Amino acid sequence: MSGRPAGKQRVTIFVLIDALGWRYVEGQEFLNDILTYRVPLQTVLGFSSGAIPTILTGVPPAVTGHWNLFYYDPQGSPFRWLRSLQFLPDAVLNHCVTRKIIKELGRRVLGMGPLFECSVSPRLLPWFNYVEKKNIYDHGGINGSRSIFDQLDQQGIAHRVYSYHHLGDAEILEQAVKDIEEKKASFFFLYLSEMDMFLHMHCKDPVQVKARLDWYDQGLRKVFAVAQKIDPQASMTVISDHGMTPIDNRYDLVGDIEALGLQMPADYLAVYDSTMARFWFFGDQAKQKVERRLTELQCGRILGDEELRQLGVFFADRRFGELIFLLNPGWLVSQSDFNGKGWMPIGMHGYHPEDPYSDAIFLGSSRPSLAMRTIADVYSCMRNASGLNSADVESREAKAHVETGVYDGNPTR
Ligand SMILES: [Zn+2]
Repeated sequence: MSGRPAGKQRVTIFVLIDALGWRYVEGQEFLNDILTYRVPLQTVLGFSSGAIPTILTGVPPAVTGHWNLFYYDPQGSPFRWLRSLQFLPDAVLNHCVTRKIIKELGRRVLGMGPLFECSVSPRLLPWFNYVEKKNIYDHGGINGSRSIFDQLDQQGIAHRVYSYHHLGDAEILEQAVKDIEEKKASFFFLYLSEMDMFLHMHCKDPVQVKARLDWYDQGLRKVFAVAQKIDPQASMTVISDHGMTPIDNRYDLVGDIEALGLQMPADYLAVYDSTMARFWFFGDQAKQKVERRLTELQCGRILGDEELRQLGVFFADRRFGELIFLLNPGWLVSQSDFNGKGWMPIGMHGYHPEDPYSDAIFLGSSRPSLAMRTIADVYSCMRNASGLNSADVESREAKAHVETGVYDGNPTR
């Protein structure tokens, strides 16, 4: 242990508000007097499942292995046993009760974690594995890289992490105030997740958005006031993982692909997320047919390998898809396993990171010592602020980047 002696560290607070995009904060009164350094951050392609591990490690999904939740892994699939039920008709296998049983089994028996949702058809689950088997905030929770929390542990820096795994947003704010007052740690990481669902449903209503921002403003103001009482030089930083893009158009991509007359799983496999479709093929003909159809569409485009590399989401073994089709900002896959019936959001995320509505936020009580450009930069900022300055950590990271050769950034900026 080479951490600074207890009690000598500055009180440092990082707050991650899920999906609070720059567009919703820009020009608004939201902690402006406290958090004076304000810039947009570019997100990474994908959803929170890819973005948050990038924030916590400073490296992209291609290194963490955390991108979308489901990946192709027929040998390692925890759902192999479902193959023996393939004789059952869709009406039974896809029934909501079957899905609920699988969800509960996944969460309690198969070690998939409390957030596991059965978003892939049960008939196809035996071909897939699930990335987040562990709580990403726990020790060793991220597969391909050590997180800021692993490093704080190693250096003996006392920290507290709050997430939906245990508490709602209001309870997290309350608990953090108590723990700061009781000087339980110097580094506090608050993950507030409820803004995501709120913006999915209300992002086009500025009055409601303002009211919700005011609620967070008041809660966080209290947290910071307590921190400053304990340590006049305390700092607070509010970040997000991605933004929220208003939906203008829906497209029945599933219907289009099914109309090609190909069979799953004999000819191909597909996983449809809200803004993305990922395909695996078991024959050239299937691949050509799907590719041709997708190329004709105006609502999105196929992402090439070079672009996937630049975005930090290229996987040589194609576990996340041999072919990846991304919808244009503002479009939504109108029916999919992910977007179950009755789920009609008016906002979505998971578009190309260059979409301005997808930008995340960085709001700091002081100017950080590094330029903040993407959500991966938050990691270095957290490391500096928390007092982590271990040389072995830096050399390990440099090595990881050289080995994978896919990282498009400089972690030590
Ligand atoms: Zn969301």
